[in-house]
Amino acid sequence: MTPAFTIPYVNFPGQYREMRQEILSAVEGVFTRGDYILGEEVSAFESSFAALCGVQFAVSVANGTDALMLALKVLGVGPGDEVITVPNSFIATAASIALVGAQPVFVDVDEDFLMDPTLVEKAITSRTKVIMPVHLTGRCVDMDPVLSLAKEKGLKVVEDAAQSVGSFYKGRPAGSLGILGCFSLHPLKNLNAAGDAGIISTNDFGLAEKLKLFRNHGLINREESAFWGHNSRLDTIQAAVLNRRMPRLKEVIRRRRMIAEKYRHALNPFVTCPRDISEEGLHTYHVFIVQSDQRDSLKEYLAQRGVETKIHYPIPIHLQKAAAGVGYKGGSFPVCERQAKRMLSLPIHPLLTDKDVTQVIEAVIDFHKKGCGAMA
Ligand SMILES: *Cc1c(COP(=O)(O)O)cnc(C)c1O
Repeated sequence: MTPAFTIPYVNFPGQYREMRQEILSAVEGVFTRGDYILGEEVSAFESSFAALCGVQFAVSVANGTDALMLALKVLGVGPGDEVITVPNSFIATAASIALVGAQPVFVDVDEDFLMDPTLVEKAITSRTKVIMPVHLTGRCVDMDPVLSLAKEKGLKVVEDAAQSVGSFYKGRPAGSLGILGCFSLHPLKNLNAAGDAGIISTNDFGLAEKLKLFRNHGLINREESAFWGHNSRLDTIQAAVLNRRMPRLKEVIRRRRMIAEKYRHALNPFVTCPRDISEEGLHTYHVFIVQSDQRDSLKEYLAQRGVETKIHYPIPIHLQKAAAGVGYKGGSFPVCERQAKRMLSLPIHPLLTDKDVTQVIEAVIDFHKKGCGAMA
């Protein structure tokens, strides 16, 4: 039996109800004009997204995974090359590397689930081309040491910012830190389309121009193709939806941060909450992960109380069947592997009411007070 969650992890119907008129008229506009492919809403969205990231250019693509793949391709990464990233991410991070024919090389994460910058240098070999930090959960990796190491070694930095639209690191926006920033606008992300969507941010004019060819069959005009390209464009309909949602992003982030503060203050005595980083940047709380030694029984208890939770991510990438050929084993990344057993993502979407938030908090506290959480 599927439990009926009174507090679901996401609420897409609620999000639609809030914006029904705006979304419907935007989509109708696209149908009326018929500019389904690379229509006017696409370039409008790219301009406002570039402004959001504080960069000159943004090139939209079909999804976040393509954003990563095309970013690596446009930098010339391919067979024989290595890309350094982390094993705690969505599978697409490593898949994008493998799918361009390169080798994913992992380094362990820190206590905040992010690339541990002190481990990167040891992972660099003569084949390393790119470092791909993942701004997981809405929080930026500590980028200064990564950027200076990359500069020293002549490597490029590609940000996997799929979870960090609108986040900041020391006053600089996610997507403006590396040479290319890759974002997903998947329905689950903080700025979301009504389906798949992605975008790449950059200050490099040449790379932006080449990415526009890469996403569209290498076509320099209607008839001529300069190289083998992909078909990976953002649909005009999705851009139209995104243009309506963009003005709300600030409010979405504000609300997520408010809920995070409430969780942190109430729950820190019971579970390990994400650190407050207001000193060093802006955390946008795409995910709010708590850590507990009794994760599985806590998850089960919350479900009984109507609270839906998720785990990001239960199986580290290096232990996935897909990664069997990459050459790691259990124990390769102890911090990541330990976190995978202890992490639990609480609902934090902006449509949660104060009452919902209180209900989640009470359920977590009750679990610990009633001794449901006592170690067996
Ligand atoms: C969502 C996500 C992706 C992939 O984005 P899609 O749009 O689903 O292809 C890549 N990396 C991270 C960290 C993600 O969260």
